[in-house]
Amino acid sequence: MLPIIGVTPSLDHESQRYMLSPEYTAGVRAAGGVPVMLPYADDAAIERLLGVLNGILLSGGVDVDPVHFQEEPLPQLGRVCPDRDRAELRLTRKVLEAGLPILGICRGAQLLNVAAGGSLCQDIPTQVRSSLKHSQTAPRWHPTHAVNLEAGGITRRLLGVPSIRVNSFHHQAVGRPAPGFAVTARAGDGVIEAIEGPGFTVGIQWHPECMWEKDPIFLGLFRGLVEAASP
Ligand code: MN
Repeated sequence: MLPIIGVTPSLDHESQRYMLSPEYTAGVRAAGGVPVMLPYADDAAIERLLGVLNGILLSGGVDVDPVHFQEEPLPQLGRVCPDRDRAELRLTRKVLEAGLPILGICRGAQLLNVAAGGSLCQDIPTQVRSSLKHSQTAPRWHPTHAVNLEAGGITRRLLGVPSIRVNSFHHQAVGRPAPGFAVTARAGDGVIEAIEGPGFTVGIQWHPECMWEKDPIFLGLFRGLVEAASP
């Protein structure tokens, strides 16, 4: 049976619309999964969803409010979405408890780390000395900086290489990894680019959903999620 992968959308407050790039759902589908978009849900709905979903994908989006990792906001903090933070933290904690596979992409990787008790770097240019350019202006599919992948990590196994060039659209990053999580990829400036927790719990800082059509190696991350989620 094809595994069902719940995918979280953004919420645009001005237009009051959920938004999700079809690249995320296309990646799940291309890897052999069935994507379903998840409107923000309360605990009772999440409990029921856990009986249906085989895994989740946390998509990219706006900054995570630092209140969720016990910090005050720096001036460089970007837009936050309280409704999304609340809903995704609730969902992610329940999914972690249930032990279902999770793939977090960009904000999703950061949200995953915060949900499990870690912190974030609120703004790379002000908090990382001599940082690289992580907010690229090149096309979304174009890889602009390298990442080194830790031996023994799921990310390295799925990509099959010790280092790879990736795209980059983030000014936040994982700060202190959550308890029980390992850093499995870093950029040359030390910025964390992948984290992994128990089972298949993987957070990727770049955007493989924009890259796999040009470079099929990146579909491996979606395949990893779908295979781990296969009933
Ligand atoms: Mn980056």
